[in-house]
Order: sequence, then structure tokens, then C-alpha cells
Amino acid sequence: MSGRRYAEVVVNAPIGKTLHYSVPDTLSAEIDVGKRLKVPLGNRLVSGYCVGLTDSPSSAIAKKIKDVAAVQDDRLAMDPAMLRLTRQISQRYQCPWGDAIEVALPAAIKRGHRAKKVKALRLARGRDEVMAELPALSKRAPKQAKALRILLDLEDGIAVRELSRLSGCGPSSIRTLVGRKLVESYELSPREEGLASRHVSKSPRLTLTKEQRDALELIRSRLAEERFGVVLLQGVTGSGKTEVYLRAIGEVVQKGLGAIVLVPEVSLTPQTIERFSERFDNVSMLHSYLTGAEHHTQWQAIRDGVSQVVIGARSAVFAPLKRLGLIVIDEEHESTYKQDNSPRYHARDVAIMRAKEEGAVVILGSATPSLESYFNAVVGNYSRAVLTKRIGDRQMPPVEVVDMRQEFHVGRATRLLSHQLEHYMRKSLSRGEQVILFLNKRGFSPFISCQRCGFVLRCDRCDITLTYHKRYHVALCHYCHSETQPPEECPDCRGSKMNYFGLGTERIEDEINRHFPEYRTLRMDSDTMKGRGVHERAFRALKNGEVDILIGTQMIAKGLDFPNVTVVGVISADTILNFPDFRACERTFQLLSQVAGRTGRGPKGGRVVIQSFNPNQYSILAAAEHDYEGFADRELEYRKSLGYPPFSVMVRVIFRGRSEDSVRKRALHVAKVLEDVGRGNGHKINVLGPAPAPISRIRNNFRWHLTLKASSYEALKDALQRTGSGTSGGVREVIDVDPYNML
Ligand code: ADP
Ligand code: ZN
Repeated sequence: MSGRRYAEVVVNAPIGKTLHYSVPDTLSAEIDVGKRLKVPLGNRLVSGYCVGLTDSPSSAIAKKIKDVAAVQDDRLAMDPAMLRLTRQISQRYQCPWGDAIEVALPAAIKRGHRAKKVKALRLARGRDEVMAELPALSKRAPKQAKALRILLDLEDGIAVRELSRLSGCGPSSIRTLVGRKLVESYELSPREEGLASRHVSKSPRLTLTKEQRDALELIRSRLAEERFGVVLLQGVTGSGKTEVYLRAIGEVVQKGLGAIVLVPEVSLTPQTIERFSERFDNVSMLHSYLTGAEHHTQWQAIRDGVSQVVIGARSAVFAPLKRLGLIVIDEEHESTYKQDNSPRYHARDVAIMRAKEEGAVVILGSATPSLESYFNAVVGNYSRAVLTKRIGDRQMPPVEVVDMRQEFHVGRATRLLSHQLEHYMRKSLSRGEQVILFLNKRGFSPFISCQRCGFVLRCDRCDITLTYHKRYHVALCHYCHSETQPPEECPDCRGSKMNYFGLGTERIEDEINRHFPEYRTLRMDSDTMKGRGVHERAFRALKNGEVDILIGTQMIAKGLDFPNVTVVGVISADTILNFPDFRACERTFQLLSQVAGRTGRGPKGGRVVIQSFNPNQYSILAAAEHDYEGFADRELEYRKSLGYPPFSVMVRVIFRGRSEDSVRKRALHVAKVLEDVGRGNGHKINVLGPAPAPISRIRNNFRWHLTLKASSYEALKDALQRTGSGTSGGVREVIDVDPYNML
């Protein structure tokens, strides 16, 4: 007679440990590690994941053990390697194991979305006949022509959604094509749908530059070792990093292994996807605008080995490839790789954990690597390949830094544009070239204030000034999104003149339209770029020269590749510099380098003007000189002297609640406990704070925070375990390991 078996279960509830349940004979054949279960907890049933099976539960409460109620999946939800990864995530980021498992499985899989048949399109006539239609159609209906060109490249068909996305065709254009019997619709089996279809023609192979060859050689030698390794691919903007990724993936696919490419959400454009799907069969895409059924299909295709190459944003790091060979992280320094709610993981760091677990290679690509990655390369933990030159011998653009303090003396009131910037703009525009103006703030102006008493309008619920948005004539809180009518008179002194201070992109647009009435402007920020397809339209307008001056926020800082852009102006380099954040200089350098990279991409060259009130600040000067190493070495010195990452592990603990007094008391208590731990262990941890957070109130919740610097993740974990429960007396606590948001 076989003895009883017990399942170790991570339940979907805020419980810091795993629970044991006994496995009834009826379920014993079905149950397995990695499956989802229903188990009793208190007097209800909850779902959970089986993370282990044993004959003897460790706890001494064996008598009280309840039975597993049901097994939810007929196949594994998580393989053992993925389970181990989620466990590491929970340890590293101090979150419940259940949260880590949840984030690794897409919602569609958990809900058990069944993939339905999907509508697809293919050519209804011979290729020659379709080709003959193209010239006329290109003029009249360019999107329809593009759709046909895409179909001409395919052996069979493509999902309607996919074709719409790649071509920009809406439902009515597609109906027209079908109506004219140029294309026909049919049904695709779920397995095929969502995979970029097989292309007949692979894009022509470029001859790699010497630098690209050397980089690829280095990656190849790491791949040949068939074990974990990290390569930092540091290449200036336009140096051909993507081509190196494509070749490396080619090698991996050839060996029958899989590859994941992570890109920041904003770079997940049709252009990016096209570049990969042109080169490889069955590329899977994981992004936030997939439907549940689509997500399900992609997930299964990846799991079944139908697609070997996956492109996606942050959470694609969990794509269930069976035999993983390579993970590429493009723009590895991007802070969008860090998740803002539990588990607060960083996709780059999770990629490295996963690669270690599965013996894969990681490529970290960037023009401006994070200091963490650069440091790892300097001390030899990572290999490093450098691409110093742009493709085609294009020069890096010359950058001028303009001292706006001087401009203020010369000009009468607030000058938006320095003389230099205006001069270069006029010169370029008169030659029919394009200009990009960058400012990292949306809205019209960030301050609404009374001319008489100086009162500044703030949000009722948040400790933040309201931003005036002119188009809708509202005062908007950028934190809680509440809107009010800007007052006619001062709420404080009843003065009748309210002023709008400071600069936002909307104001830049306004003033540029007034100063340059003969030129066409386009503003790209999260206010104007809402909804599907607007991005595409904006890109096309730029590409076709329908826009002379592009104005935008960080949204336009990367990816744009338009050779006719010959001037880039940074309206103010100081917006991030003044953030209360130890990464303020790093971010400034990265952003300025990225923005500068938008010009000089064609034979006409280009130039950059950076306006600043701190023109001698080293991150600005280094960006102007395109001197990454100079910046990074100096910044590392500074981090070292203050014991900031990468020389320590940092954690931010945020306390929030309705009662400021309780919040403060709890913060002080936790700080005291942690200080005692630090004294007891020879200062393996150091406490900074507690203090009110820079934004001391959001949605009527008071916020305090403290920062911990620890010598290692272990020291940190030990310390945090002593502080007791996360939530008490109406005060909620958030532990953010490796924080990126310090506000
Ligand atoms: P990065 O990713 O470093 O910004 P890309 O990979 O986008 O650079 O390359 C910039 C441009 O140069 C692209 O249009 C790409 O097709 C082209 N390119 C890349 N490598 C080569 C090469 N070896 N020869 C010619 N063109 C290349
Ligand atoms: Zn608010």
C-alpha cells in the first residue's frame, strides 16, 4: 500500500509561506509539480500552484492537513525551471512567491482562454495581376497598396489584425480590397494565427562592418560555450546593434534553440517587428495590445516549439521557450524594464537570473549602458563589445550647449529659444529640412499662480502643483489625474490675475506656431498620442515630410530614424537633473544622448543645441562630447564615494496611509529596527531617513520613505525580515528593491 502524498502549495493569498495539502487518491494521477490547484483556505476555495510533492510534510500539523480539492490544468502551467525562477524573484524582490508566479503567467493562460478560429486574408488573384494594380493604388490608397505588398511577400495569408497593424489599413480599406476581389478572407487555425507568417524573401544580407564582426565573434564564442554568459553590446546610436542581434539569433535558431528579444514598450513598433519577422520564420510577439485569445495562441506556439523567436516588452522575459539559447535586451538602460507594482522586478535582472538557470547567453545592448551593467563589464563579470562608429561613416552630430542664464539677460521676458537654436532652425527649415524640439514635460505650464500674492495652485489630494492644459482649459494633476477648472481669481487673496508659469510641450507648440507660422508642427506626447494608429500616422507624416517641426517628450527620444532631421533642440536639459534621485545625472546623460542621436543620420548631417541653466554640469558636457566612458567613470567615482549602486544594493521602503501621524510613527519604528540591525552586523546595512517622500501625499495618502543601502541581497533580506508585518494600523508598506522611482 502506498503512503499518503502531500502537495506543497503556493496559494493565491497574502501568505508568506507555502502550505501543505494531502493528495486524495482520485487526484494522485493528475497532480504534478507546476500544476494549478484548487485548495481550501479557511472556509473558501482558492487557487494555488503545486510547487512540490512529498511523502512527509515538514510541519507538525499533519493531522490537520486538508485535501487538495481539484487540479485545474490538464497540462503543466509552469515547468520546474520557471518555478525556480519565480522563487528567486520572490526572494530577490521580497514579494510573495504567488505574486511572482502570477506575473510569469499571462492572464489569458490563467483564465484559460480557448483560442478561437481567426479571420485571415490572402491574395485572391495571381501575383502578376495584383502587381499590375499597385502603381495606381499607391497614389490613391497607399495603405491598401502597402497591404498588397505585404501579401505579395507571403507564401500564404496573414491574420486580419496583423495585416491591419502592419499596413495601417482599417476595416473599410480591407473591405474595399475584398470587394475588388484582390484579396479573400479565410479562417486560420489558432496555431498559425499571431505568428508572423513565412516570408518568401528573406531580407538581403548586409556585409557586416569590422566592429560588427568583432562583436558577433565575441557573442559567438560565448554561445559556443553553451553556458551562462553576459555580453554588453555598447554601440552608439545607428551603429548597427540590431543587425548584430539578428545574426546572433540566427546562430541560436540554427542550433534548434530559442531566443527572446526584449524591447522597451515604446519601441515595439511595426518597424521593429518587421525587421525580425523578415529574417525569421514564426516570430512570436508578446505585447500589451494582444487580445486574450491571441496571447493564449502565442503562448502555446512558444511552448510547443512552433516559434523559436519571441519579441516583446518586459513580461516576455517569461516566454515559455523550451530550450532557451539567448536573451537580447535592447536599450537595457531603460527604466521601463522595471515593473511599478508587485513583483517590482527588473526584466534585465530577471533575464540574467533566467539565463543562469537555463545556461543561456544574454546580450545587453545600449548606446548608454546603465552604470550597473557598465560596472559589471569593467570588473569582468560581463564581456563587452563596443561599436564606436555609425554605419556608413556618418559622424556623430556636433552639440552646442547654450547657457540660458546669458540668454535671460539679453532677452526681455522668458526666452523659449536661444539665438543659436532659432538661427539653426531657420537655416534648416528654409532648406526644407526638419527640426525636432524636445522637452520632458507635457501640458502648457506646470504652475498656475496668482500675480498678486504668488499663491500656486496645488492638487487637493496630492502634494503637487497642477499643470495647466490649454487645449481643454483644465488644471490637471499628473499624479491622480483629477481635473479642475483653472480659477478666474486667486483662491487665496481673490486677486483677479492668474499666471501660467513654466514650460510644457503644449506651450512650446503654441509659441512655435506663432514664431514660425509658415511651418507645420506636430506635437507627440501622451496627450496627443492616444489611441490606436496615431503613432503610425505621426511616423508616416514625418517620413513623408508633411511635418517641419516635431515637438515632443521622451516619446520622441528614441527610435526615430529620419535622415532629413538636421537640427535637434533640447529646450531644457535641466528637468531631470533637479530630481531628488541618485540616478538624476545618469538619466540626464542617457536622455540627452538619445535625443542627440535623432539627427545626423543622413548625408546632410545635423546638429544639436542643448539649452540649460547648468551648462557646466558634467552629465550635460559629457553628452555634448558623446563621451560615455568619461561620464560613466566619473559617475562611478561619485556613486562609490557615497556607497550608491552598483556599490551597494538599494531598497526603498514606502509607507503610506490616511493618518500622517501613523505613517510617521511606523516609518520611525521601522527605521529604528533597521538601524539596530545595522549596528549589530557591522553596518552591512545603512539606513537613510525616514523622511516625507518628495511627493508627500498622493490621493490623500500621506507618504514617508526610507532608503536602505546593503552590502548584499542576503544582508538586506535578513534585515527586512526583522521589521515585522508589511501592513499595520492603516499604514501600508511597499518594499522596492533596486528602486527606479524615488518620488
Ligand atoms: P542601432 O540599433 O545601433 O541604432 P541599427 O541596427 O538600427 O542601429 O542600424 C542603423 C541602420 O544601418 C539600419 O538602417 C540598418 O539596416 C543599417 N545597417 C546595419 N548594419 C549595416 C551594415 N553592416 N551595412 C549597411 N547597413 C547596415
Ligand atoms: Zn492629485
